[in-house]
Amino acid sequence: MHGPEGLAGAVAALQGFKSPIRTARAVMERTHHVMLAGEGAAMFAADQGLEPIGDPEAWFTHAGADEDNHATGKKLTHGTVGCCVLDREGRLAAGTSTGGVFDKLPGRVGDTPVIGAGAWADGEVAVSSTGSGEFFLRTATAVQVAHRIRWAGLDLTAAAGGDRAVGAWAGHGGLIAVPTAGGIAMPYPNARA
Ligand code: ASP
Repeated sequence: MHGPEGLAGAVAALQGFKSPIRTARAVMERTHHVMLAGEGAAMFAADQGLEPIGDPEAWFTHAGADEDNHATGKKLTHGTVGCCVLDREGRLAAGTSTGGVFDKLPGRVGDTPVIGAGAWADGEVAVSSTGSGEFFLRTATAVQVAHRIRWAGLDLTAAAGGDRAVGAWAGHGGLIAVPTAGGIAMPYPNARA
């Protein structure tokens, strides 16, 4: 999401391409849509010349291969990359990318591609979330942080505050938040035990 202009692009359930974030950016810059999903997203990525995954076996790390992505019974485990950027002219942007969670049902979409839940950027703050996406979806976590700053006048730490952001809703996860004034908040209140 591009803060100054409030522009956003997202893809969900995209398979076969190396950079979902580049595809999301292309949705933002080259279409009049915000989100493309599944086969349509893949057709769009191919059409835009985005780089496909040639050899899936060589590209993917299998779930269970490292400690941050292990299967523990029915528990949803996950792994996400989030990025918040403030440039020298005070412009903010946020991007979030994930493989989702382990043990998900086919067709499940988490918070990551949902603008306002997994990512948000406006003229005041950029936010990127990670954790049990279902909780972030239910509470529009990323945009909540921005609204707390804008409408409630909270400072960054209070707005992104762990106990009020994710932990209070019994999810586990956290976020990174960067405001125009600079600085960073990274609450992660309910880390997986
Ligand atoms: N939030 C992501 C999801 O629910 C997972 C993650 O952050 O690792 O799909």
